[in-house]
Amino acid sequence: MRIVLVGPPGAGKGTQAAYLAKNLAIPHISTGDLFRANISQGTELGKRAKAYMDAGDLVPDEITIGMAKDRMEQPDAENGFLLDGFPRNVSQAEALDVMLKAEGMKLDAVLDLEVEEDEVVKRIAGRRLCRNEDKHVFHVAYAPPKTEGVCDICGGELYQRGDDSEETVRRRLEVYHTQTEPIIDYYKAQGLLVTISALGKVDDVTRRAMEALKK
Ligand code: AMP
Repeated sequence: MRIVLVGPPGAGKGTQAAYLAKNLAIPHISTGDLFRANISQGTELGKRAKAYMDAGDLVPDEITIGMAKDRMEQPDAENGFLLDGFPRNVSQAEALDVMLKAEGMKLDAVLDLEVEEDEVVKRIAGRRLCRNEDKHVFHVAYAPPKTEGVCDICGGELYQRGDDSEETVRRRLEVYHTQTEPIIDYYKAQGLLVTISALGKVDDVTRRAMEALKK
């Protein structure tokens, strides 16, 4: 299965992607995670991406598309993948279509996680990530770790993403509305869009998503 997850920052894309990818036995490919890994490894790509990310802006397509393509060409993604955070604008969506078509492949579904703006801000403000593994995600109120500041899964230190500050979140939401939301219509026109509510418990949202994808 080849699936794209869309939704505003704080909709729980990363959390849902981790569960869905496990259930569907396909790799979870997050361009945000790839950028953060490049930044912590001090790569040239990471250095180029950092200022855009810190400002809450999109990293330019010429950096992002190549990085996403390289990852999708890895052997583990041969039979499917779950894209989280890519595409984030119409030109990335078109580039993805071209990439897949060249390989005789196509997307199976685009899962849109819907959540209202107030909830998004609350979710992001309390979000904490593990320094060892970006996919270990907690929330001070909604999914607190057993010990404050410590990852339940691996014992790593929890931290708040630099771009999760209120000011940057507002910018990221604006970027979402102006640049990312148009891909919803793009995929609706292709008959690929499946919209579910991202409200409620993590397990309930995963169940809802799996049911929607089966259809
Ligand atoms: P995320 O972890 O998906 O919230 O992404 C964090 C940040 O990485 C975003 O605010 C962007 O600055 C950058 N980013 C991630 N994916 C993309 C993409 N597909 N296109 C451009 N920038 C991206």
